[in-house]
Amino acid sequence: MTNIDEIDDLEKLRKQISEITTQLISLVGERMSVSRKIATVKNERHLEVEDSEVEALLRRAVLKRCSETGVADAFGLRILNLLMAESIRLQRDEKPSNAPQQGVVLEHVESHMKLFAMAKQMEENGERVIHLEVGEPDFPPPRPVVAGISKALEAQHTHYTGSRGVLKLREALANKFNQKSIKPISELNVIATPGGRFALYLAMHATISQGGEVIIPEPAWPAFKQAAEEVGGRPVIVKTRIEDGWKLSPDAVEEKITDTTEMIVLNSPSNPTGKVLELEATKAILKLAADNDITVLSDGVYADYAYVPFKGVEEIVDSGYIAIQSFSKSYGMTGFRVGYAVADETVIAKMAKFQSLALTSIPEFIQYAAIDALNCHEDVARNVEQVKQRIDTSCAALENLPLTFSKPEGGMYVFPRIDLKNVDSGEFAKRLLAQKKVAIAPGHGFGDYPDYLRICLCQSEDTLLEAIGKIGELLR
Ligand code: PLP
Repeated sequence: MTNIDEIDDLEKLRKQISEITTQLISLVGERMSVSRKIATVKNERHLEVEDSEVEALLRRAVLKRCSETGVADAFGLRILNLLMAESIRLQRDEKPSNAPQQGVVLEHVESHMKLFAMAKQMEENGERVIHLEVGEPDFPPPRPVVAGISKALEAQHTHYTGSRGVLKLREALANKFNQKSIKPISELNVIATPGGRFALYLAMHATISQGGEVIIPEPAWPAFKQAAEEVGGRPVIVKTRIEDGWKLSPDAVEEKITDTTEMIVLNSPSNPTGKVLELEATKAILKLAADNDITVLSDGVYADYAYVPFKGVEEIVDSGYIAIQSFSKSYGMTGFRVGYAVADETVIAKMAKFQSLALTSIPEFIQYAAIDALNCHEDVARNVEQVKQRIDTSCAALENLPLTFSKPEGGMYVFPRIDLKNVDSGEFAKRLLAQKKVAIAPGHGFGDYPDYLRICLCQSEDTLLEAIGKIGELLR
């Protein structure tokens, strides 16, 4: 064959591939218009947007076609995930704006951040508001940390640092982690981040591919789902129930695992339920993850606040996880914006690359303050004891209200269900703020829990009792 013939062949093939690609896009367009029609029917029949049985059937059909055509299963499923994510987005957009939506925080549903903004506005107008809507401890940072900041500034620790953080901090964090970790880790396994929140985002950014599935047990801190979606992943929810004491069943997790599952999120003790995952369940889920090559994201920012026996993932397995930690809750350092992640070196390297791109590093003097905090064991113990007492006092008072709740085994929140007919927690939270000047977080934000409230127990016992009294007045 001459060169000219080869060029003609290449041209033909390129034309062919262009046609196939544009045909695919036309088919996607057709799929979207069918999806809109489905949305209309679902709205008429008051059906939920997501339906796991229908998804399972589609998945099977795709796998069959994959084997017939030689397309790799994982690739076919990834395309399916992208298509389904787009359908879900379309169908949610088509939902009437007054219908509470499954598992999403939308503008019209009162999220805790919206309540927080409303409460702040009232305060600016001179009103006194009790804040139980955000997870912000009321205790101050330890004294050595406050003093350490001035010292760090005097010592001119005011520069850029390596994106992972200064060696001294990473070594100190590795030492802390090694007190529990069954496999010794080094500073290469650690990255200091601006809060646990950014550590979570970096972790997902580093490990989730487009359409990759992220299993999230709910109720859950909203950022898990939001970050997964933001990086192009597909959240897959495992719903837990108050009737089961918020237990997460490994079988329920296993049911959701597919060829494209890339991450399982564990948050123990949990925000918002206060549930501490049982050792056996943790082990079983870690085994499922290992057997299926899935990364476990272990958010342990409330690990110090465990009031029942608790083991972190690093005490059970020696790899396969990304552990997220924070200085915010244990040390009362929310505004310092400092947290960290521990993971395999390759994952940390990917996280560091993106952190370097996004923000260079966290401020150097904050990193020195964090090193000082690591020695403040008494402050942490006092904070934990205080929150525990507040939980005991608050739960005793909440018992007398028409609420059902599971007493928290850890963390700093209680997540009760309102036992009255037709009460939407978003509406209730708005009324509570307007009439009683108490801000709480509606259940919507944490998953499909429209009749639940999340109450943060980070105020003095007197203030908590005053607030619970006011909640009671409105529930009568
Ligand atoms: N993880 C959970 C479960 C949380 O509730 C929070 C904050 O509320 C964080 C992580 C992040 O905290 P920060 O970004 O302040 O470290």
